[in-house]
Amino acid sequence: MEEHYIGVDLGGTKILAGVFDAEHQCLATDKTKTKPEEGYDAVCSRIVRAIRAAAESAGIDPAKANGAGIGAPGSISSDESQVLFAPNLDWRDAPLKADLEAQLGCPVWLGNDCNVAATGIHRLELEAKPNDMVSIFLGTGIGAGIITNGVFLTGATRAAGEVGHMVLDPDGPVCGCGTRGCFEALASRTAIFNKVKSAVDDGGELTPMLEAGDHSVTRIRSGKLRRAIEAGDPLGKQVLDETCFYTGLAIANLCNLLNPEVVALGGGLVEQLHPFMLPKIRDAALERIMPGARRVRIMATTLGDHAGITGAAILAHDHA
Ligand SMILES: [Zn+2]
Repeated sequence: MEEHYIGVDLGGTKILAGVFDAEHQCLATDKTKTKPEEGYDAVCSRIVRAIRAAAESAGIDPAKANGAGIGAPGSISSDESQVLFAPNLDWRDAPLKADLEAQLGCPVWLGNDCNVAATGIHRLELEAKPNDMVSIFLGTGIGAGIITNGVFLTGATRAAGEVGHMVLDPDGPVCGCGTRGCFEALASRTAIFNKVKSAVDDGGELTPMLEAGDHSVTRIRSGKLRRAIEAGDPLGKQVLDETCFYTGLAIANLCNLLNPEVVALGGGLVEQLHPFMLPKIRDAALERIMPGARRVRIMATTLGDHAGITGAAILAHDHA
């Protein structure tokens, strides 16, 4: 009988579900909004609905799938059954494995979203070759999955890998965590748009990045930033340059600490803007990496937003 694995990328704003075959090829996907404000049960139902829609497109019964993997934005219990803490969803100790298994009728495993996406890149795109690898995801926030000596770095209390909260400028802007100058507060999509907003508020030129009358910069997506950069928008270029500089700094710190073979970059910002970003990120990083760790490949993933669902399906496959 043919094997099928389900992979879900559960984000703070959207849920992406995919059905995969045993070779990790994607057969069908479905996307829906997360709407975390509607509460835990409603989000569970939306996950199940997205899985059922993807399964229907792939022509399979989800109850007969070999397993489902879920990448969730938070810390996961060591038995992969609960989401211990997910600030973007406002969840604590959520028994997601049991609840989804009851509704889907197939086994479910949970993983941290960044580790799961890093698994997708490592296993499918890099054919499981690098033993030491750092994946950094630049989007609304900044997260990472770190593999050292072939295993994921978890730390003593499963809190390792919070790369987004590395302090890169102690006098920098306040981060969501309360500290000043975290990598995330300097270089995420949110940081970019905060900078654009304050430039406009300070009487700066209304640049092509902000269409006439549209001052709600928080709604600007990465695609819009790309079009602004392509059109030569000076403010867009300046804020993106700063993002690349701080990303390079973060990578240099990580390379000096962990000496990875590969640094893989992903997330919405990188997916849209890697041709502009990669050369600048490499320059800023390589200038600061010690000679012994300088043989590192800094790349952008080609999996795009499929990294998460692919890794989640692989998580299920590994367990099943
Ligand atoms: Zn922070």
